[in-house]
Amino acid sequence: MRIETLLSKFAIKGINYDPQSGGGKALLSAEEQLAVVGLCWHESPVGWLVLFVEGLRDVHALKQLQIATRGEVLRLMEDWRGVYPEKALTALCATAIAEATQQNGQVCPECNGSGKVLSKCNHQRKCQCCKNGCIEWTQETRFAYFAQVLPVTYSRFKRYNEVLFKIVNWLIESRITAVLTMEEHLEKESQLMYETN
Ligand SMILES: [Zn+2]
Repeated sequence: MRIETLLSKFAIKGINYDPQSGGGKALLSAEEQLAVVGLCWHESPVGWLVLFVEGLRDVHALKQLQIATRGEVLRLMEDWRGVYPEKALTALCATAIAEATQQNGQVCPECNGSGKVLSKCNHQRKCQCCKNGCIEWTQETRFAYFAQVLPVTYSRFKRYNEVLFKIVNWLIESRITAVLTMEEHLEKESQLMYETN
């Protein structure tokens, strides 16, 4: 069960739900699963989606997260002076989600995330283009990501970046809320165990 993988990262006891044993019982949605564990989806739906994408590479959660993020981008773009193409929204969403779900950076394409490469004489070397297998987020890497969808000049990107910054913060703050919910739950759980023992 994949939600258990996520919860186990935060040391929360998951639920025992085996779709095989239920005799064709429908799978619970992520929201329902969290409810069974006693965690609240509605306290930070966006934060949960970030965690599901981050921890489980969940495709369904990614689609939902894209929709929610697009809504927030549109809201922020109301103050935008001048015109912008539809693709700018897509570029903003994609870049913001990439950063919020991989806060340590993108997986390095030169060492595939291992942080080590083989030299010509077959010796292991520290990968020169990343930090422990991750390419950290900088203005350059954000621009590179953004420009894959909307290849504008860097000076034009800097205007979009003001919005990008706000969206990334919004996603990260939502994630923090979801994590705090888990931590509170964990604290209650251990309190309960202490009292019953
Ligand atoms: Zn590397």
